[in-house]
Amino acid sequence: MVVRLKNALLIADVQNDFCPGGKLGISDGDKIIPAINKYIKEFSKNKLPIFISRDWHPKKTKHFKKFGGVWPAHCVQNTKGAEFHAKLKFPKEAIIISKGMDPEKDSYSAFDAVDSNGCEFDNLLRIFGIKNLFVGGLATDYCVKNSAIDALKKGFKVLLLVDAVKGVNLKPNDSDEAIDEMVRRGARKISFADLKL
Ligand SMILES: [Zn+2]
Repeated sequence: MVVRLKNALLIADVQNDFCPGGKLGISDGDKIIPAINKYIKEFSKNKLPIFISRDWHPKKTKHFKKFGGVWPAHCVQNTKGAEFHAKLKFPKEAIIISKGMDPEKDSYSAFDAVDSNGCEFDNLLRIFGIKNLFVGGLATDYCVKNSAIDALKKGFKVLLLVDAVKGVNLKPNDSDEAIDEMVRRGARKISFADLKL
């Protein structure tokens, strides 16, 4: 039997600080979690790799307003805000990848992330032989967008889970524009009903 692992799932940054009540709470950021869980279940059932990314900042980083960046402090390592939202359900086989540890960088993309052994996301995908990356999570206009664009640049096919993403919208149209840009660069929009693994 040939094992084909062409498809992988990336769920970006479903952490307390990006959900309502968090330091950088996205309104209704938690509302997409049931949809995300459905995708996770489906990938798990098909024994396909599931990557769960997290923003994982040191206390001091140029990413934060206080040190010259744009954002209030958020997702500081080992704080409640950096924990995954309690409603997010993923199996123990899922691979957690962390980004934002370098105090000199913003690291919006999952392609800046590494697993617990320090292996880069890109390498992990290549090890599994992944061709298609299904992307959902938070936030549409930052981590989702940057991860999707990097994936496309690296030659992966990107399937954007439009029913499982939510944006920050510093400007009201940021998310819509982010989706347009991803599509223009080659991403395909899908919803759960279109999922074929
Ligand atoms: Zn961050």
